[in-house]
Amino acid sequence: MPNFDLHCHSNVSDGLLAPAELVARAHAAGVEVLALTDHDDMSGLDEARMTAAELGMLFVNGVEISVSWKKHTLHIVGLHVDPAHAALQQGLAQVRAGRMERAVRIAAELAKAGIPDSLEGARAFAENQQLIGRSHFARFLVAQGYVKDVKTVFKKYLVQGKPGFVTHQWAELGEAVGWIRAAGGVAVLAHPGRYPIGSTNMRTLLAEFKEAGGTAVEVMTAAHTAEHSRLFTGYAEEFGLLASRGSDFHGPGESYVEPGRLPDLPASCTPVWHDWAETKTLALSRS
Ligand code: AMP
Ligand code: MN
Ligand code: MN
Ligand code: MN
Repeated sequence: MPNFDLHCHSNVSDGLLAPAELVARAHAAGVEVLALTDHDDMSGLDEARMTAAELGMLFVNGVEISVSWKKHTLHIVGLHVDPAHAALQQGLAQVRAGRMERAVRIAAELAKAGIPDSLEGARAFAENQQLIGRSHFARFLVAQGYVKDVKTVFKKYLVQGKPGFVTHQWAELGEAVGWIRAAGGVAVLAHPGRYPIGSTNMRTLLAEFKEAGGTAVEVMTAAHTAEHSRLFTGYAEEFGLLASRGSDFHGPGESYVEPGRLPDLPASCTPVWHDWAETKTLALSRS
């Protein structure tokens, strides 16, 4: 199976590498088709696409949109989106504005817990000042010696019931899928195995996602166990959804796997790329 990695981050959101560096690393790791999917921001796509072209690697415009569904935060990946599309651009601008307002509240909560100046601290770790996320706060907390590593921050801070946690209203599920589709893209439910919801709620979510115009679910992603991959292969078939594969790489030292270094999709899945031009291009280049 060709090596598709359809979920990666650069320092345009909370990844550690510049878009060009990420693309070069993915290419070196054997990725043949890469999507850059930064959180709520598409400003890395031009640089990534140019670098991919220089290296002769196929590139897909992507984005990962933050969504609130019931009490949960979900991530919806958009693939093959047109980055110039107004509705998508405006939608993401709204989400980013909410994100900034959330960052102020996170900093206020951390200050109450005895950690001052964390907004400035997080900003110092963010290449893109329009996109401050919990990972930037996490890197600040580690650098200040409050916590030993980023993974531990997400156990002791910034999550429900811990200092620095705030609730937040992101985009609606239907809105996010609608922006992606309006921009010519396909919507993929990211890392579904990570959501702490039971099977009844998961079925409701998959049905609503499909109804809203969603196309695929991530079956292979770094956060999934083999059991998750089996489970979501079954759900994909049950709900008429295609399957995607993406490492969710954020950078050296903060990720479980390198770009493209995941098992192939199970043979019974229909890949989200089955009818893409990239698939034909790869087949031709090999024949
Ligand atoms: P945000 O969108 O600002 O709420 O941040 C979400 C991001 O935080 C995710 O995309 C991950 O990059 C990171 N994150 C969330 N949970 C964890 C965790 N347990 N360990 C490491 N990073 C995490
Ligand atoms: Mn992230
Ligand atoms: Mn995500
Ligand atoms: Mn991601």
